Amino acid sequence: MKLKVLAERRMAQFPEAPVIVAIGGCVRDLMSYSERFPKPGETLIGTNFVKGYGGKAANQCIMASRLGTSTAMIGKVGDDDFGHQSKENFKQNNVNAEYVGITKDAATSVAQITVVKDGQNSIVYIPGANDCLTVEDIRSAENDLIKKVKLMILTYESISEVILEALKIAKQHGVRTLVNAAPVNPGVSEEIYPLCDVLCVNEVEAEVETGLCVESIEQAKSATQMLLKRGCFSVILTLGPRGAVFASEEQPQAIYIPAKQVTAVDTTGAGDAFLGALAYFMTQHSSLTMKECIERSCEVAAISVQNLGTQKSFPWRKDIPAELF
Ligand code: ADP
Repeated sequence: MKLKVLAERRMAQFPEAPVIVAIGGCVRDLMSYSERFPKPGETLIGTNFVKGYGGKAANQCIMASRLGTSTAMIGKVGDDDFGHQSKENFKQNNVNAEYVGITKDAATSVAQITVVKDGQNSIVYIPGANDCLTVEDIRSAENDLIKKVKLMILTYESISEVILEALKIAKQHGVRTLVNAAPVNPGVSEEIYPLCDVLCVNEVEAEVETGLCVESIEQAKSATQMLLKRGCFSVILTLGPRGAVFASEEQPQAIYIPAKQVTAVDTTGAGDAFLGALAYFMTQHSSLTMKECIERSCEVAAISVQNLGTQKSFPWRKDIPAELF
């Protein structure tokens, strides 16, 4: 009875059932801007400081929501200012955050980000509450949420048992899985590959996953092939300003999809803008091929890199050229 009342309350706040669920990190970003990266031991005078909201899964979920689809997040935050602000931020972005739990066992995750003049960034990430998301948390969302969505976004920000369980539950219910193997998480089991409908990595993650050097587009294609052979249904390798390569079981010959040429001011979160947009196009535009979904997602990500900040730089539907929809 208690569960039913809870479910009804959730429905009242978000009358549209979520189409996408994201599982992974909710992070408070602490961003410093400077001319260049500091050298070890150096105190460098920066030019600006801002707080932002981040976490790869949270970012991707919010990006999909801003494009106009109903989304829900499963995660953990600390019982602190950053945690409560993060929950409020989901609300402001029309994301159902009922399954973002509050723990007293750890502080809300933070990322210390340095952004330099040409838009490059470096990040120190403290997992905190993200590591407190449990297998039980995922199971408790199975019936009311996970089995009802079309697509699960999953990042490597949770502990490996959570990642595996979430993917198994998704597959049991025929929910498509979009897995972002980021940040690098050596604990994640090889068992996950056959559970990935789409595995997405950037160049650094691809190198760690495959042990190959990924500098040229041809090398990226080879890395994609290797990941495909491990059992993923399809693989996307993003290449920053160069775009992405894609291969799938149906189309094993990897193809190159160029990015839009723009002047970047801050590339933080470009991959998340790309993935959130991809989740949107995969679920809302079923007539599009994956190549077309990727092309459109590259366009959305290119808009984000022309603005400062992470979520702050993510466009809303009204900011996107109408022909993309
Ligand atoms: P991550 O942020 O995970 O490292 P990438 O840097 O590979 O991911 O970027 C993801 C996508 O964002 C790219 O495939 C591309 O479409 C877009 N993108 C990233 N940087 C730029 C840029 N400088 N100009 C245009 N598009 C970009």
